[in-house]
Amino acid sequence: MNGTKSSSESAAQAASAPASAPSNFIRDIVLEDLRTNRYNGRVQTRFPPEPNGYLHIGHAKAIYMDFGLAAEFGGKTNLRFDDTNPEKEETEYVESIQEDVRWLGYQWDGLYYASDYFDQLHEWAIKLIRDGKAYVDDLTAEEIRTYRGTLTEPGKDSPYRNRLVEENLDLFERMRKGEFPDGSHVLRAKIDMASPNLNFRDPVMYRILHAEHHRTGNKWCIYPMYDYAHGQSDSIEHVTHSMCTLEFEDHRPLYNWFIQQLEIFPSQQIEFDRLNLTHTLLSKRKLLQLVQEGRVSGWDDPRMPTISGIRRRGYTPEAIRNFCSSIGVSKTTGSIELAMLEHFVREDLNRRVPRVMAVLRPLKVVIDNYPEGQVEEMEAVNNPEDAGAGTRRVPFSRVLYIEQDDFREDPPKQYYRLSPGREVRLRYGYFVTCKSVVKNDKGEVVEVHCTYDPATRGGNSPDGRKVKATIHWVSAAHAVDADVRIYENLFTKENPAQVDEGQDVLDNLNPNSLEVIANAKLEPSLATAAASDRYQFERLGYFCVDLDSKAGKLIFNRTLPLKDTWAKVEKKNEKK
Ligand code: ATP
Ligand code: MG
Repeated sequence: MNGTKSSSESAAQAASAPASAPSNFIRDIVLEDLRTNRYNGRVQTRFPPEPNGYLHIGHAKAIYMDFGLAAEFGGKTNLRFDDTNPEKEETEYVESIQEDVRWLGYQWDGLYYASDYFDQLHEWAIKLIRDGKAYVDDLTAEEIRTYRGTLTEPGKDSPYRNRLVEENLDLFERMRKGEFPDGSHVLRAKIDMASPNLNFRDPVMYRILHAEHHRTGNKWCIYPMYDYAHGQSDSIEHVTHSMCTLEFEDHRPLYNWFIQQLEIFPSQQIEFDRLNLTHTLLSKRKLLQLVQEGRVSGWDDPRMPTISGIRRRGYTPEAIRNFCSSIGVSKTTGSIELAMLEHFVREDLNRRVPRVMAVLRPLKVVIDNYPEGQVEEMEAVNNPEDAGAGTRRVPFSRVLYIEQDDFREDPPKQYYRLSPGREVRLRYGYFVTCKSVVKNDKGEVVEVHCTYDPATRGGNSPDGRKVKATIHWVSAAHAVDADVRIYENLFTKENPAQVDEGQDVLDNLNPNSLEVIANAKLEPSLATAAASDRYQFERLGYFCVDLDSKAGKLIFNRTLPLKDTWAKVEKKNEKK
């Protein structure tokens, strides 16, 4: 941060600079507000999670917008926990949310809680009662719903709507003091029971809940509704641009109504489309159900679309930010291909992570003419995409493991890997030719015998002989064992929320979303791999060390296989 430059100066500079970042309608609003000096050059946003679950990839989009846009214009972003509902909120969520925002690469200015504003909100409620704009209602929740009417029918006034101010003040005070049971009274705004916007039909502002709150303890037994707290919380913090998802569009006039009645700072709310991803559920409620029913190992199960889940799986914050930048924002909700997110992950990992050799399903190969007891250190490139990543040495010896898939006794047409009589290249090693096989009682090949050509060290033949396949391998005597967890989509259906009658989304779970491979064989450089280290296993995909991994008991997660279907889709689209 440049301490000598005020935020309004840098904001003004950014506004007059040519638009370099790809723009979108929200960024255009901010630019226009800076041009007209609507907020004295200030840009202030907030990210307002309700601490009732872990953040997911949809929240990453909101975080990217809130923090990214403010940062671009030298502004500020607060992290505010919208903790108006005491019953569903937990400290565990508050902590995980902070960890996830930081991991995504953002640091907030102020850390606030809507519960910090309970006193102020309560004072404002009294002011609205005094001004004849709020009243205590004795109708039950069910009656309130019926009286509310529908989109096509106007609502009906509550018989308590015209209570006198003094009576309302007295009842509201007694609600606060705990004289009434839950559900017996509510405080409602007195607006318009015939409004075409249902949110205007005397919305509930306060309800009685004899519940302990994670921060205010037992101080309150009345709690503000989200719609009464949200807009004013923005206003208290002097948020200039309050971004949220489209389902709040119809609530905006209500937030503005409260702000106008109370004559407080007018924050501007702007709605954008919620992120939906194919094969993925982005609803904290549903994700909680998966956790509670033990369908996954926890919120950070690598199959979960939570930030903690995809972090554990090996996704990078850079990849997520690139994805968010590329999807942009709009006013229409659609669904983004999961393959697109995966594409950004591969693109980032391909550039950055070292390549190593690992064999997931080992098949023993013995090189009969290679001297017994000899070990050669072969030079291997760490990352062809990054010259600075250098090289390492990989031990080669007489007995190796190759992938079971890389051998076929009866090779189908176009199968060029190892098979009887066939010569292939062992990556960074030698050309080898398969001479014979050993089978077990069941007739399965358990050992492949080869000879090698010593003249092909490093993988090239001086006589110009060509081979059609290069396969990876690990020296048996030097191999490190590991468990490898292979993940597939948690839901097979493109839209997991689409269910047949009488079924639940959880019926759409993919029963094969996790496969554990025990005793995979890794090259010895991986013996010291530490939790969250990332690698490309040559020819197999991207992998990272799981949190539960220990020296001597390594566990890897497959982040993604190498195949990139999204890149293909994009290419096809380009050709069209
Ligand atoms: P969920 O529906 O998963 O429970 P939510 O909207 O209730 O999510 P909040 O904690 O209230 O979750 O969300 C915090 C912020 O993140 C809000 O501004 C919300 O609009 C935004 N947000 C939530 N889900 C998405 C999504 N899928 N795409 C973009 N923004 C989202
Ligand atoms: Mg919410």
